[in-house]
Amino acid sequence: MAEELALILRSARYQDAAKVITFLSREGGLRTGFARGATARDNRFGASLEPLTLCRISGRGSATSSLYRIHHADIVESFRTIHADFNLLSWAGLVVRFLLGCLPPDHPEPLLFSLTQATFSDLGSRKEAPFFLWLSFAREALALLGYRPAPPVCSLCRERVQEGRVFFFPGEGTLLCKNCRRKDRKGGVEVSGELLGWLSGTAAVSELPDRFHNEAMVFLDTLIGEINPRWIPAASVSFLPEVRD
Ligand SMILES: [Zn+2]
Repeated sequence: MAEELALILRSARYQDAAKVITFLSREGGLRTGFARGATARDNRFGASLEPLTLCRISGRGSATSSLYRIHHADIVESFRTIHADFNLLSWAGLVVRFLLGCLPPDHPEPLLFSLTQATFSDLGSRKEAPFFLWLSFAREALALLGYRPAPPVCSLCRERVQEGRVFFFPGEGTLLCKNCRRKDRKGGVEVSGELLGWLSGTAAVSELPDRFHNEAMVFLDTLIGEINPRWIPAASVSFLPEVRD
């Protein structure tokens, strides 16, 4: 029986005595598993399979169905601080929603697993503002999935736009400066060159000037929406209680 490290993302009751669990496994990527006997009250097995728990699970795939059977689970980290704080829980929920909506099933993404684990740890430790953690997570997660935007260099005239605005064409990953776009075509998502510079690089969030914070949130939503058309923009979720100034 294989053992794997898993972050539990979603848990739903199935009939009387079982749960269907969706989890991100370090070894196997996004998976769905079936846990018989995980619903009884005061049940350690069930508790270890609650959403936002890091645990070591053992189970096996079935030859006749795609469903993985979870036989045993031990909690490695329960992220108590997040569970006890509605604000942190809301931000962690965004990360979970991203993973559930953007990852193909059963495709190992060990770096994304580590990024998610680190993001939950940082959220729980309250060392950095949740909003900053979301921006970092979304930028890195998109990069790991192959969607890091290019630096702000016009695809036609090759000019680097440092201060002005550029037009980004997400479907093609190309971008145009204002001049070339005027001559060439319509459409594109308008975005600041400086923000695109930050998104395409590796500088810390603290190096992104405050005036770009909201635009960063909205633009990341645009990029995520390209992967998952059903993505509900994070910028539109008004219940996120933390002020994003
Ligand atoms: Zn140009």
